Parts: sequence; C-alpha cells; structure tokens
Amino acid sequence: MRASHYYAPTLRKAPSDAELPSHQLLMRGGFIRPVAAGVFDWLPLGLRVLRKVENVVREEMNSAGSIEVHLPVLAPKDLWERSGRWDTFEPTPFRTKDRGDREFCLGPTHEEVMTHLVAVDLSSYRDLPLTLYQIQVKFRDEVRPRGGLLRVKEFFMKDAYSFDVDREGLDKSYQAQYDAYVRILDRLSLPAFIVKADAGSMGGSDTREFHVLTEYGEDTIFRCNKCDYAANAECAALSPVEAGPRKADGEPELVETPGQSTIEQVCEFLGRPAEQLAKTLIYKVDGEFIAAIVRGDRDLNDFKLRNLLGAESLEMASPADILKVTGASVGFSGPVGLAESVKIIADYEVNAMSDFVVGANKDDAHLVGVEVERDFSVAQFADIREAVLGDGCPECCDGELVTERGIEMGHVFKLGTKYAEALGATFLDESGTEQVATMGCYGFGVSRAIAGIVEVHHDKDGIIWPMSVAPFHVGVLLLDPGVEELAQIADQLETGLGEAGYEVMVDDRDERPGVKFKDADLIGYPIQIVVGKRTAENGTVEVRRREDKAESVVREEADGDGK
Ligand SMILES: [Zn+2]
Repeated sequence: MRASHYYAPTLRKAPSDAELPSHQLLMRGGFIRPVAAGVFDWLPLGLRVLRKVENVVREEMNSAGSIEVHLPVLAPKDLWERSGRWDTFEPTPFRTKDRGDREFCLGPTHEEVMTHLVAVDLSSYRDLPLTLYQIQVKFRDEVRPRGGLLRVKEFFMKDAYSFDVDREGLDKSYQAQYDAYVRILDRLSLPAFIVKADAGSMGGSDTREFHVLTEYGEDTIFRCNKCDYAANAECAALSPVEAGPRKADGEPELVETPGQSTIEQVCEFLGRPAEQLAKTLIYKVDGEFIAAIVRGDRDLNDFKLRNLLGAESLEMASPADILKVTGASVGFSGPVGLAESVKIIADYEVNAMSDFVVGANKDDAHLVGVEVERDFSVAQFADIREAVLGDGCPECCDGELVTERGIEMGHVFKLGTKYAEALGATFLDESGTEQVATMGCYGFGVSRAIAGIVEVHHDKDGIIWPMSVAPFHVGVLLLDPGVEELAQIADQLETGLGEAGYEVMVDDRDERPGVKFKDADLIGYPIQIVVGKRTAENGTVEVRRREDKAESVVREEADGDGK
C-alpha cells in the first residue's frame, strides 16, 4: 500500500474534548472521526484494526464450537414485551416505528431475537447443546457518551448465546466461552483481570467480567491484596461481623435536633462521629416497605439488597411514603418503634454497634444511646453496604480489599431459563417430556477492545499496535521518493515482505522526513524500515521496532524474511 494513495489523515493535536489516551491517539492517528457525540466514522486504518479484532474473536468463537449467524438490528417490540424488557431495559433502547406504526428497537443486545430464532426450530434434546454468536453493530442511548470508543451510542460487539438441556450442560458451554475469552484477550495482548459481577438487567446468576486495568478505567474493581479474589464494586462481598457488647438495661434518650436531617448535620450537632450513627433507609420492595440500616459513614448497595431479598423491583420510598411509614420527614427515620409490618434488614456492621444514634421517627428529633435487641429487633443481618478500600477479603479472610480502575472488555453470564421460557425455546427430552432450554450469554466489546489495546499499548509518541491487530505490520519510510533507486528498493521491500506474509505501508508522500517519522510512530506500525540517505550510500536500511525503538541496520538484500 502506498501512503500517497491512501486515506489516513493524521492530526498534530488531539481534539480538546479527548481526555483518554486511546481517544486522543485514535483520533490523531486517523483511525476514527466523530459524526456526533458517541457516534464515529471508521477510517481505513481503523477499519483494518476492527476487522482484525473481529477475526481473532471469530476464530476463537469457532474453535470453542460456537456457530456464527447474523441477526437484524431492528428488533420487534413484541419479542421485547414477551421478555418483559421493553419498558424496563436501561438505558431505554433507541426506538423506531415503521410506516404501519409497528414498533421496533435498535438492538442493544439480542437475547430476545436469538432465543426467538432458536425457539422456531428447536424440537429435541438431540438439537442441543447449541451456541450461536454474531458480530454485530449495537446501539445504546448513552446519557453521556465519552471516552472515544468506550462509551458510545453505536458500537461493535460479539454476542454469543448458549442453549443446553440442563444446568450441567450450561456449565460446560459457559466454560468453553470463558476459556475462549482468555485466549482472545491473550491474542489481543490485553492483560485480563477476571472479576465477579452482578448480572444487573440481564437477569443471570453466575457471571464474570473480563477487565483491562488502566488508570482511566471507568469501573472500580476490588481485589484482595493477599489472594486472587476480585469483584466489581457492585458485588464485592463483605464478611459478617461479630456482635459487640450491648447494654441490656436503660433506654434511648430523645434529643431535639431541629432541622438536622443529614448525617453530617447530625454528627456535628451531637458531636458524634458518623460511625456512631445508624442510617435508616426506607425502601419499597415489590410493593412492601422495608427498613435497611447501615452505619452512618457507609453507603447502602442497592444491588446487594435486591439480591438478598430476591426482589423484582426495589426503590427508595417517596417522602410521602416515608411520612406514612415512619410518621416523620425524610432524614428522621429510625428502627425504634417502627410498625411491625416493616421488616428491618441491617448491615453486618450494625451488629457490632452499641450506644448509637438513630432517627426518632419524629420530625427534628433523634434517639441517642440506642442498642440493638433492647430497643428494636433486626429480621436479618446481611451484607448490604458498598465495599470500601481496606475492607476485609471475604475469600481468604486475611487480606484487605484494594481498588483498581478497569475497562470491561467482555462478560459471561449464566442466564438460566428466563428468556427460553418467555420466548418458548423448549424441547422434548429423552422421555418425551417438554423441557425449557437453559441459556448462557456471552458478550465481547469488539470496538471497545480497540480502545483497551491502545490504553495499554501506547507511549507519548503514539500507538504501539501488537502484531496481531496492527493496521499494517511494517511501515516503510521512503524518505526521498524522488530518488528512483530508493523508490525501487522500497518496491522490492514491499513485494518481498508481502510475499513473506507481512502487510506493508510505504510512506512515499511528498513530506519531510520528520513528518514521516512522527506519523509512523503515531499510527504505530510495529516495525518501521527507513529507506534513506544511508541506503543510497551503502545499501543498508534501518529497521526500528516501535515497541522499544530498538534499531538495527540491515543490508537491503537480506530483507526478504522481514527482519
Ligand atoms: Zn483474600
């Protein structure tokens, strides 16, 4: 390929809104261009990288026994209503209507459409196991697109769905995908960090996320500093706390706290640290009210509470509901004297508290000197708070949790039978009884992986592509294209290296050498070959490795093997 006839416009400066290295360098190197916030054009260099990442993913999917299909972007409302996600999926998918007023969404994920496909033809247990995948454009109506290819409205994903006769079969299909992900990330030179995750709106159980750790990662990951436990912030588990000594006699004292409704205000007003306060939060769970208590300096974790209660819906109670349930305004709720119908769930740490402060269920008042058991009873102590730096490891019980920043590259979920049931993916088992297929789903961010690779592989001068996905393997810098003899040598290099299986870009543009060196580093060819003055003098070329800028001088004739 000749740069003079190619389309790879580079930029000296990154756009001012690009904060992440990957965003800056992919823009500067001429890989992508924005059309609107979170919507990008793929330029030729970017498209070459994208196709290579796709192929790595495709090869590993195929070798894991999954089979490629291609599903439509337009997903009919009817399928999404059957799964119950038309109104609940977050963020709300892009929606559109055809001329006959039939509604569709632009698929943010394809559980419904894939399950529908399989349901049509599935009849016998002999048809299973089956894992289908596609590499497809996906849409997500991001509230705040940012980070170049990281948070976008339109992106490329590989999504696979497995169908098995039972849970055991699912375990095998899941493991095959898990192993394929490890190989994909290895081939993309992405050091993976595998963490436990919450299934969120996908509604699964056993799930893992594959993260790449970088300082610009948008997810917080907790990992143990002693063992290999790792989990995302939503589901980092915390261990039970032993009950502390409690006073059995006496009673709490009612203290006026006019207008002091936040934890900070109450702490300052009473001269007590937040650890001596208990926050009581009233939630509406599947139509019933519950009180959830955490220490004043902690945050409640909605995901944990929802999972603990096995709740379909969970939301903070409205101020009007809080008034109805507690008899007081927001900020004055407490567990003492609450109606018996309101179940009290307390975080493990509350079990160790004594002589603490709670809201009095009366405006402008708190109770001081409160004791668990003596003053109120807890239905269950559980892990319902957000993990923080320094929490104990739930696995080895010896280490402490430390935090990292990660970018999620992929995830594997055990879905169970939810979608298969909703969309009728059933089969007859060996005894002729109708059974529902057991599903797993497996996503991998193809365009996102490109951002991940650049985050991990770059320096101040530009991108350092791994060979496996480089847009071209070799950049031949023809410093003086006007000299016929040098142009011929560049020709020979292109042909010889091409025959040896290397993809070569010859920079024959009418530009200064400095520009060519800068662009080659920015674009990130793993190998650069300089054809210049020295070549004319003594027939040698300079070979530079982008990774470490190691240079070697090679006689031109010896170049056919690429080194
Ligand atoms: Zn540990």
